[in-house]
Amino acid sequence: MESPILVTRPYLPPKEQFDRLTDEIWKNRWLTNNGPLLCRFEKALSSYLGLPEAALVTNGHLALDIAVKSLNLQGEVITTPFTFASTTHVLVQNHLTPVFCDIDEETLTLDPAKLEGLINERTSAILAVHVYGHPCHVEEIDRLAKKYKLKVIYDAAHAFGVQLKGKSIAEFGDVSAFSFHATKLFHSIEGGLLYAEDLGLRREFELQRNFGIENEILVSKTGGNAKMNEFQAAMGLLVLDQIDDLIRERERLAERYVRNLTGVPGIRYCRPEAGEDFRFNYAYIPVRILPEFGISRDVLYEFLKTKGIYTRRYFYPLTSEFACYKGRFSSHLTPVAKRVAEEILALPIYNGLSAEEVDYICKNIRQARRDRSHFIMNV
Ligand SMILES: *Cc1c(COP(=O)(O)O)cnc(C)c1O
Repeated sequence: MESPILVTRPYLPPKEQFDRLTDEIWKNRWLTNNGPLLCRFEKALSSYLGLPEAALVTNGHLALDIAVKSLNLQGEVITTPFTFASTTHVLVQNHLTPVFCDIDEETLTLDPAKLEGLINERTSAILAVHVYGHPCHVEEIDRLAKKYKLKVIYDAAHAFGVQLKGKSIAEFGDVSAFSFHATKLFHSIEGGLLYAEDLGLRREFELQRNFGIENEILVSKTGGNAKMNEFQAAMGLLVLDQIDDLIRERERLAERYVRNLTGVPGIRYCRPEAGEDFRFNYAYIPVRILPEFGISRDVLYEFLKTKGIYTRRYFYPLTSEFACYKGRFSSHLTPVAKRVAEEILALPIYNGLSAEEVDYICKNIRQARRDRSHFIMNV
């Protein structure tokens, strides 16, 4: 392969379409603050996701931040260490204490069997992540939340377009926060989305994203700035037009990976069982490199780099092991997450990745397995 294969690349709509849409911005000279494109994008998204309304914000991290602030959380929040930095940082930045719960081996989301034992009088919420678009154990989490009167926030950054029991994944929990970052399945360059069923919370999102300003003279909250601008909305509208085709293309790539890697000892593709009323989004190709593979995840990762294949150790390290949290948490309390973080490798998937490239990636993985004794001698 001549050019390197990266783990992901953003989809870009045809340039003429973006030009045509952004010509409107020049015409009406409205760049941000609930502009016409933002309003259109919000409507189009709500309709696509089957939600009555949803609030767009600058990015996924601010969506989580507003979720946390709007729920007035205090004390401890039970969460997963197997996630992106944002999920843990948002708690710490809001003076909350993350309490890490282990993940379950199958879905890699919070293990409900280990959750209840972590709840105490200081617990105010659960912040769970639909990691790789795999739905959390929403029913169990909901049952525990009701029993102990806890709020539930879902970090749905990976879960755009996922449906469960015939509903959008956004409809579970008190608040769901999505990310539309360039590296995500669905993007608006940068962007985020908040959904809550509760009307009071929706009102709160509006205020929190625009300095708590109610009207010209009334400022009722100490909110920050999380407004999405018109250029982001234009990009989002054009990507949304294509999203179903983009998901179908990824599904075909995912199937090709499965066909290619089935039977390779020690390679385990992590994806949820396709239930009847479940729609998956194929946002990532996470595989676990198990001991039977014969070489470690890190050795495979380095080997693939020499072949021009850039995979990603996503998620490694656990957020509880970050340098900025040194001495505060112990990853030994979440042994499954710790092991999975050492085994996980996200393989390249993006729109425009070719079938031949998937074959080339898989061929090299199989070759690494065949030549495993060679690697062991050389490390
Ligand atoms: C990307 C991501 C975020 C943050 O979203 P941004 O839009 O990049 O701010 C939060 N949580 C998870 C799990 C993510 O992958």
